[in-house]
Amino acid sequence: MKVPMLDLHAQYEDLMPQIRAQLDEVFATHHYIMGAQVKELEEKMQDYLGIKHAIGCASGTDALVLAVKALGLGAGDEIITTPFTFFATASSIWRNNAKPVFVDIDPQTFNLDAKNIEQAITSHTKAIMPVHLFGQCSNMDAIMEIAQKHKLRVIEDNAQGIGSTWNGKMSCAFGDIGTLSFFPSKNLGAMGDGGMCLTNDAELATALRQLRVHGEGPKYYHKCVGLNSRLDTIQAAVLLVKLDHLESWSQQRRVNASYYDKHLAHVGDIKTPYIDPQARSIYNQYTLITARRDELMAHLQKKGVGCAVYYPLPLHLQECFADLGYKAGDFPVAEELAKKVLSIPIYPELTQEMQQYVVDSIKEFFS
Ligand SMILES: *Cc1c(COP(=O)(O)O)cnc(C)c1O
Repeated sequence: MKVPMLDLHAQYEDLMPQIRAQLDEVFATHHYIMGAQVKELEEKMQDYLGIKHAIGCASGTDALVLAVKALGLGAGDEIITTPFTFFATASSIWRNNAKPVFVDIDPQTFNLDAKNIEQAITSHTKAIMPVHLFGQCSNMDAIMEIAQKHKLRVIEDNAQGIGSTWNGKMSCAFGDIGTLSFFPSKNLGAMGDGGMCLTNDAELATALRQLRVHGEGPKYYHKCVGLNSRLDTIQAAVLLVKLDHLESWSQQRRVNASYYDKHLAHVGDIKTPYIDPQARSIYNQYTLITARRDELMAHLQKKGVGCAVYYPLPLHLQECFADLGYKAGDFPVAEELAKKVLSIPIYPELTQEMQQYVVDSIKEFFS
């Protein structure tokens, strides 16, 4: 048997007729930039997340770049974030000439550990950028409390967490701006790149709408220099079909996770993912911790089981950020987990048989 890490064929199989019909509507207008479907998707996302304003853009990375810009952050400003995340979290800060300031993560949830934040605050700190990693919402009560106390802005990088909650409230709804990614392998993936910013603040929404079209308003008049970063009409049309299925996909991921939780609980030295009782995860990844990570990975590859390491090198040790002055040992939790994490297939279309095979293959390794 072979179990891929992700199977988009399985996901699209039933959806293609509906998607083709939606695409035909776009082709009937040839309105490829900011067509009606973009606004329709923005409104549908506002309803789904319970947030007032949604602004589609070209990628999850751009959503973060736009968010930092819309908050007026740049040279001389510091933004506190996690070193254990996808590169774009920190690069969005860097690309605005602001400085990413890393703090270590919680060893159980992999998310920014709120109790490390205050010691990193300086007179230059302007914002906190938590990431809802692997689909689990960060402890937003603790983060918002610190933000309010120190008058800091909050940008939620929710590229991996669409539909996750903290105490029943949707991720993206806590901070000043939340961002989404529609990269094809995300829980809500487009047929190419796409992203979105969400905010309850009307002024920020206006700024974000201007910034995604070169900072323009009215047309050909520019108060500031923005990006060219729109969500394609074609991608919005695809996402309109897929958004209807997102809740049931997330639910199936949770069912799959509970199967692994049960069957991998006492296998070798494996630690299965810890989900805080106040959080509801959408399991963008199902990530194991084991000291024998590299050997287990080689074994699973031999058995035809897809698996992946997210992420092998924390951001404070990336060559491009050498100027920030961090060194190995600065964030021991992130550094240790980078050596021990292994994500295994969790996508909703996995069958019980496939999951059984994954479990058996892991058990075989440890026996
Ligand atoms: C995927 C991802 C991004 C970037 O999204 P793109 O759409 O690929 O640009 C940003 N942050 C995190 C945590 C991600 O996982």
